[in-house]
Amino acid sequence: KKVKEPKPDWIRIKLTTGENYQEIKKMMRSKTLHTVCEEARCPNIYECWANRTATFMILGDICTRACRFCAVNTGLPTELDLQEPERVAEAAVNMNLKHCVITSVARDDLKDGGASIFAGSIHAIRSRLPLCSVEVLIPDFLGDTDSLKIVMDAKPDILNHNIETVERMSDRVRAKAKYRRSLELLKKAKEMQPDIPTKSSIMLGVGEEWDEIIQAMDDLREVGCDILTLGQYLQPSPKHLDVEKYYRPEEFVKLKEEGLKRGFSHVESAPLVRSSYRAHEQVKSAKGH
Ligand code: SF4
Ligand code: SF4
Repeated sequence: KKVKEPKPDWIRIKLTTGENYQEIKKMMRSKTLHTVCEEARCPNIYECWANRTATFMILGDICTRACRFCAVNTGLPTELDLQEPERVAEAAVNMNLKHCVITSVARDDLKDGGASIFAGSIHAIRSRLPLCSVEVLIPDFLGDTDSLKIVMDAKPDILNHNIETVERMSDRVRAKAKYRRSLELLKKAKEMQPDIPTKSSIMLGVGEEWDEIIQAMDDLREVGCDILTLGQYLQPSPKHLDVEKYYRPEEFVKLKEEGLKRGFSHVESAPLVRSSYRAHEQVKSAKGH
């Protein structure tokens, strides 16, 4: 059921096209790197880039899946660039990033789902920019444990995998991904490397009920998930899933409290929060936990 009210005024984008932002934008062009910040039309792009946090999208910009909330193009990917980890590291160095998030489209066409390129990127950034924390936001690798192990063995600072929505809405919202499989992946990641914080995200406003959000939090805590991000779903185009509800800022505050009560070490919860928003602060808080 499509929401009737217009986009509320708390969903405003702060336009601070400062120097850092312009500088980073130029660099992205010159290195032919894809960023989620741009591809997903993230509303935080000015703030994050000005704060020297960016999310790189590796493994191309064409996804083998077609989730109904996502602005990334779907198709049969052709790109597999073994030099990509080096290029990501070089961009991270040039941008002097404090926190680097690496994510990818779902590459169900590749045997390891692209896990080795994730691992290579972590190693490349570590060797060239040791002070930069590296977070990986991984696809579900179709549940393949070997692929997950390749990533975990490279020891990211944060292992992020999004459940995206509550269990009941999962099949409608995500293509091919499964709620339980995502939970299982987070659980296995924790078993493989108990010291590496795990993180997940739920976008709100696609038709879920309050109690179901709370249940999803409990499910995440059950598999040892440490960090939670909650944000408002915004429709990237009229072809995408309708927004069914705009949550009020105070509801996000309430949900943050619920999350902290349940034992998450860090909860980022506000209308414009996205998976990698203020991610560098989460590294600190997760490590101190
Ligand atoms: Fe990029 Fe993530 Fe920031 Fe959005 S929240 S601009 S995707 S780093
Ligand atoms: Fe978008 Fe879904 Fe592909 Fe991820 S798996 S890039 S959310 S279409």
